[in-house]
Amino acid sequence: MSSLFVRTLREDPADAEVPSHRWLVRAGYIRRAAPGIYSWLPLGLSVLQKVEAIVREEMNRIGAQEVHFPALLPREPYEQTNRWTEYGDNLFTLADRKGNDLLLGPTHEEMFTLLVKDLYRSYKDLPLSLYQIQTKYRDEARPRAGLLRGREFIMKDSYSFDIDDAGLEASYQAHREAYIRIFDRLGFDYAIVQADAGAMGGSASEEFLAVAENGEDTFVRSPGGYAANVEAVVTPAPEPLPIEGQPDAHVEGTPDAATIDALVELSNRDLPRADRPWTGADTLKNVLFMLRHLDGTTEPLVVGLPGDREVDPKRLEVAVAPAEATPFTDEDFAANPLLVKGYIGPVTLGGDGSAQPVLGEEGTTKVRYLLDPRVVAGTRWITGANEPGKHVYDLVVGRDFSADGTIDVAEVREGDPAPDGSGPMSLSRGIEMGHIFQLGRKYAEALGLKVLDQNGKLVTVTMGSYGVGVSRAVAAIAEGTCDEKGLSWPREVAPFDVMVLATGKGDEIAAAAAQLADDLDVADVSVLLDDRTASPGVKFADAEVLGIPTSIVVGRGLADGNIEIRDRRTGMARTVALADGVGEVLREIGR
Ligand code: ATP
Ligand code: MG
Repeated sequence: MSSLFVRTLREDPADAEVPSHRWLVRAGYIRRAAPGIYSWLPLGLSVLQKVEAIVREEMNRIGAQEVHFPALLPREPYEQTNRWTEYGDNLFTLADRKGNDLLLGPTHEEMFTLLVKDLYRSYKDLPLSLYQIQTKYRDEARPRAGLLRGREFIMKDSYSFDIDDAGLEASYQAHREAYIRIFDRLGFDYAIVQADAGAMGGSASEEFLAVAENGEDTFVRSPGGYAANVEAVVTPAPEPLPIEGQPDAHVEGTPDAATIDALVELSNRDLPRADRPWTGADTLKNVLFMLRHLDGTTEPLVVGLPGDREVDPKRLEVAVAPAEATPFTDEDFAANPLLVKGYIGPVTLGGDGSAQPVLGEEGTTKVRYLLDPRVVAGTRWITGANEPGKHVYDLVVGRDFSADGTIDVAEVREGDPAPDGSGPMSLSRGIEMGHIFQLGRKYAEALGLKVLDQNGKLVTVTMGSYGVGVSRAVAAIAEGTCDEKGLSWPREVAPFDVMVLATGKGDEIAAAAAQLADDLDVADVSVLLDDRTASPGVKFADAEVLGIPTSIVVGRGLADGNIEIRDRRTGMARTVALADGVGEVLREIGR
């Protein structure tokens, strides 16, 4: 400790939002270089390398081979796949002295595809899985929580190459198994969830999420085993209802009902329904967005959903990608005078009660109108009448209005019915640690990766892409294990096996501690010896901050020939004879 390049800090860093960030900085594992960009100090680097070693071992075990690409990449391949544009502001780009465009790789599908294209010609060369552990660059809109969302970060990315779909499925399953072993060894409490709404089938894309209150991802689980990121949850559509026998639509004055709550209250007071009270779920809320397409053109989009739900921005992002949606501004409203802020509805009712579409394909304003899957034919709604202070009641889907399609972007709530029909879903938060993805032929097609098959015919290779957030894992492990006193590493990734603390004055204590450390070293136990002249209180506190799983205290007890072994996680301590020290420590650390 007296020579280790580390300084523990008494104060929390000002920008620390989550405990892992706070403790990694305070314990001297990392230092911020710029927003979302961190330097690794010896202790932090040691944990990082241990995580890397586990990832490497498990990738090698499934026969994947390690390579290493540059981080500084040419523009052309990313141009061919359109990602130079699609990646948008997240891409770090630069130009060299000759004016050639370059980028800092956010992920490397293009480079791997081209490398295999360069060297392989035949189905006999496949299957192949390649990986690297590499620094990635993404100009994240909101770098946060230290290593959890960095702008420079370390990822293990692998790519599989197969001749056919069955091969891809096998490569995908091999990676899935490897990931299970990796995250088991890293000691995570994790969930494997569907990451994709399933356009390509159930397991085409899954995420490994570390269960964590501070996680940015929300995921659902059903009693029947369905698990999905909320971004991928498919809302089951109820059965349509018969249209016959529904009351006629009618416009009502609804002064001071600008919010859903106020509208429901007013409706129950002035226009009660016979069978039960109105609720927010009886109202149809129409939310406006401006879509910006990749080519720069814009287009308004109206999302109609039950009034008791909000649009989930992340689900919307996924649903409209690669276009981007932003909420309507006052200027947007000014440019679309038929859309009356606060009173938007799909139709206006003529004097004779006939419905004139305002939204939707046949609509007079040609505004694209998409409905939540719950808004099925035969359901009746209270919604805006496109006039200030007025709503229309008993507007029936399929009779009075229709839309251009559905969009599944409403927030998912605890207790919502699961799409597998097994009951209510529960909601948890998590940190995305890994992502496995059946890419299919998208990149191979764009970049022309073909090989000859058994019949001598050229066929396009099918690919998978698989990522692990290696630097994110360091923070996520810390997040899951730290307490109010500091870090507390699982043994597999701890920078040292044990810490030996010499507490108390006198050469005898110092000498005994140094000797024990030497003996442990010989027994192949990695030891951090706190040989500083600091007070016992400072040493104990630092040991807790640093989070080495086991501490051995050589202090007062030495007079009776005893030392103490402490477990960082449980706080339990036991006294053993110094003479038995090495054996006891080996037992303690499970060797
Ligand atoms: P996120 O949804 O968190 O932005 P992503 O889906 O964009 O992640 P992938 O492209 O799937 O990420 O990358 C593979 C893995 O790399 C992720 O599962 C995650 O563990 C890690 N990762 C992605 N972005 C970051 C980042 N900004 N900082 C640290 N790790 C990251
Ligand atoms: Mg991902």
